[in-house]
Amino acid sequence: MNVPQSVSFEDTSIAFSSKPDKVLKKMYWLFGIMNHKQLVKLGSYLLKVALKLKLPVKPLIKQTIFELFCGGEIVYDCRQKSLELSKYGIGTILDYSVEGTEDEGDFDHTATEILGVIEKAEIEPRNPYVVFKLSGIASNRIMAKLQSNLELSPQEELSWQRTCQRMENICSACHQRKLRVLIDAEESWTQGVVDQLTYEMMSKFNGDTPIVFNTYQMYRKDMYQNLTHAFDIAHSSSYYLGVKLVRGAYMETERERAEEMGYEDPIQPDKQATDDDFNKALKFCVENIEGIELCCGTHNEASTYYLMELMSNGNITPNDPRIYFAQLYGMSDNISFNLANAGYNVAKYLPYGPVEDVIPYLIRRTEENTAIAGQTSREYGLIKKELARRAAQAQKKI
Ligand SMILES: Cc1cc2nc3c(=O)[nH]c(=O)nc-3n(C[C@H](O)[C@H](O)[C@H](O)COP(=O)(O)OP(=O)(O)OC[C@H]3O[C@@H](n4cnc5c(N)ncnc54)[C@H](O)[C@@H]3O)c2cc1C
Repeated sequence: MNVPQSVSFEDTSIAFSSKPDKVLKKMYWLFGIMNHKQLVKLGSYLLKVALKLKLPVKPLIKQTIFELFCGGEIVYDCRQKSLELSKYGIGTILDYSVEGTEDEGDFDHTATEILGVIEKAEIEPRNPYVVFKLSGIASNRIMAKLQSNLELSPQEELSWQRTCQRMENICSACHQRKLRVLIDAEESWTQGVVDQLTYEMMSKFNGDTPIVFNTYQMYRKDMYQNLTHAFDIAHSSSYYLGVKLVRGAYMETERERAEEMGYEDPIQPDKQATDDDFNKALKFCVENIEGIELCCGTHNEASTYYLMELMSNGNITPNDPRIYFAQLYGMSDNISFNLANAGYNVAKYLPYGPVEDVIPYLIRRTEENTAIAGQTSREYGLIKKELARRAAQAQKKI
């Protein structure tokens, strides 16, 4: 692979340049715990029970995994971490991460919160994207019904109309301010509805410049074809396709549901097939960059190097505004900081929200760091390496 020589994800001095020793040691301890699969399993279970019983575990969560992966409980709390990232040329994607409610009042509250982030992003150029999940402003149950072509009750119909209005308000506010908005991808049994609404918004607002971005989960067997089809439609309808590429976060639930309900597993047969389609999709986006803007959401080093190689071969400069690399806060700083240091466009999702409401997100992060071969030990190993480098440097000074 023709990797640009100036960037190495092994350079821990750049990767952790923003982290003082005390913070790095705490990260080392936390990633060390996450390394243990059984401990994470037990911890996730106990956490859910403790929250149900209203035991006072919030301070413990706040000082540990919440501090590691989130910006704070309210948007204002994120300011310090966002400023910190911007010092190193990294943008922040403020992510109000409240999930899983079925309440109209909560949906309105989330929509208002997102509109607040849009206003903030307008005045703070370090926020290159706004992001949200449709399930934050819509009922999952109603979306699943719509996707299955089941008839909605009059009340459900009203609720869905409100969702469409919230979506339109958010996308229109972004359009007015020329801000890009990423619509996160969710489970396959509601994603069809997310897609439909997102493409409606794209056709309205992406005519002159890409504003609305859909997310493509390449762990799905049908996703490469969905992507190329979406591009064909965007091209023939004269609007830009906003693309966020990810591998996909809900593999276990997707497989469990498919088995339970007796339909074909929508997920690729193995990791290699997901990796192949992810890279194929990167190639497709770069080859069609005249009509696409790309946000590459991954912690996978090989795919990141591959995108850099595709850019280099296509004479696309690292800071070309049509391509961004994105990682989640608290993960893969070796990729984010080294890319930004080499002049690439990089941003990190910074989730925020009340501690109890971001628990599903936190559990996904800890399980992901445990479940995926290599990832936690990779983070853990890099932090260990940097602590050793700093200790050796301190020794030299003595
Ligand atoms: C900025 C950003 C935004 C994101 N937004 C979303 C989003 O909107 N929706 C969403 O679903 N996820 C989202 N994710 C999470 C993402 O989908 C992945 O779960 C996560 O990033 C891990 O994949 P990876 O590419 O980083 O790395 P890797 O560690 O290389 O890949 C792990 C991924 O490979 C796939 N995989 C693993 N084992 C197998 C197997 N046996 N068979 C088939 N596939 C397998 C799974 O998708 C798994 O998550 C986001 C991630 C980032 C960094």
